[in-house]
Amino acid sequence: MSGELRVTCSCGVEMKSSDIEELVLLVSDHASNFHDISFTRDEIEAMVQF
Ligand SMILES: [Zn+2]
Repeated sequence: MSGELRVTCSCGVEMKSSDIEELVLLVSDHASNFHDISFTRDEIEAMVQF
């Protein structure tokens, strides 16, 4: 259970973590800081590549 989770933003930035909680935080932080978008947790989970 140490697989890496990844989300690639539409702007090309790739965010990685082995922890889904941390990844959700990274992505929501990036989206609000760089794109002024608030994603829900469900939306972020739908973007995760395993
Ligand atoms: Zn982005």
